[in-house]
Amino acid sequence: MPWYKRLHWQIIIGLILGVIYGAIAAASGWGTFTRNWISPFGTIFLNLLKLIAVPLVLASLITGVASLSDLKKLSRIGGKTIAIYIGTTLIALIIGLILVNTLQPGSTVPDEMRLQLQETYEDEVAVRTEAAETAKERGPLQPIVDMVPDNIFMATTANRNMLKVVFFAIFAGIALIMVPKEKANPLIRFFESVNEMVIKMVELIMIMAPIGVFALLADVITSIAKDDPSQIVTLLSALGFYSIVVLLGLILHMILVYTSLVYFLTPIKIKDFFRAMIPVQLVAFSTSSSGATLPITMEVVEKEIGVSEEVSSFVLPLGATINMDGTALYQAVAAVFIAQTLGMGLDLGAQLTIVFTALLASIGTAAVPGAGIVMLIIILESVGVPAAGIALILGVDRILDMCRTVTNVTGDATIATIVASSENQLDLSVLAVKAA
Ligand code: ASP
Repeated sequence: MPWYKRLHWQIIIGLILGVIYGAIAAASGWGTFTRNWISPFGTIFLNLLKLIAVPLVLASLITGVASLSDLKKLSRIGGKTIAIYIGTTLIALIIGLILVNTLQPGSTVPDEMRLQLQETYEDEVAVRTEAAETAKERGPLQPIVDMVPDNIFMATTANRNMLKVVFFAIFAGIALIMVPKEKANPLIRFFESVNEMVIKMVELIMIMAPIGVFALLADVITSIAKDDPSQIVTLLSALGFYSIVVLLGLILHMILVYTSLVYFLTPIKIKDFFRAMIPVQLVAFSTSSSGATLPITMEVVEKEIGVSEEVSSFVLPLGATINMDGTALYQAVAAVFIAQTLGMGLDLGAQLTIVFTALLASIGTAAVPGAGIVMLIIILESVGVPAAGIALILGVDRILDMCRTVTNVTGDATIATIVASSENQLDLSVLAVKAA
């Protein structure tokens, strides 16, 4: 039995125990103990996953692109992938906007609570606004300039620079296709070997997944509650409705979009697809990072769903970096929610601006925890809502980050599966197929 199946239940148990422990720790004032003795195991687990993200993206994309063996095939698969990525993100944004405009979660936050939230998160807002400030001061073409690294070693030194790594890897892969076979082969074999090594490392890291997940969850709960469980009740009463709207959007998007795509465009049974995805979703939920989850997404999509390595090694690293439907949906809901809470109306033009900026922002959002809220500031500013408004939602952001990351990785896997199916690169013997 492969590791991800064996570990599946252990990870669920780790997750549940982490939540229970976190609640008890918050109620008993064990915050410092948890931070000193439990949280580090979560950080180690997360670091190990992040550690292999750059070599994995580099090796898998270079071999993935090079294995496409001709440029026509690359532009066909690449064009299709990017078009579907953008299409699904647009649908996510529309779902988010429809929900937040009809349910109006912002009109339920009492004034007193609004002031309290703004005061509590004042300092954190300052840190995030500074990060957004640097992002915003750049010209309109800066995101494209940012994609092109001037030094590959520098580009690989921060996981946030993944888009640069993706660019280099695709560029190198294309060059390898154009180089005579006998000259290209040694390098391709080298990266194939790096790929194998990384996959083995994932397997080893996942041995500690149940403990890592336990520690991550315990840490999230205690840091939200800050040794005072009533804090959670306060947050939930003010932000519960907003959180429900985001969650509802994420679930609707998965049901409407991913389920239909799998149902109509692949021969795979929806039930089997989602069952195979459980370990990936659990790791995405606990780590809040599509980048850290990527190794597991790739392993499961290839071995459990039957997508060819050729497709998965191109579509998934790209998706983890640029395709974030969950993040886009959340950014749209959050922007309108903040405007509603502050009593500002957003007309159709403003809502369209949100669609456009959130589409770009979700592409530019790094696949790491909490990246979505920094990009949210840019969206807020594009429609004239004060950035300090993020104070209103910071309290529940980590939990929503965990949930939107689940949608992000599910979207990447869905699209890898439909691209593979359209290219006849889906091994149907791996999963049961729908009855004809
Ligand atoms: N944590 C998300 C991800 O890695 C990004 C975000 O929305 O913050 O997919």
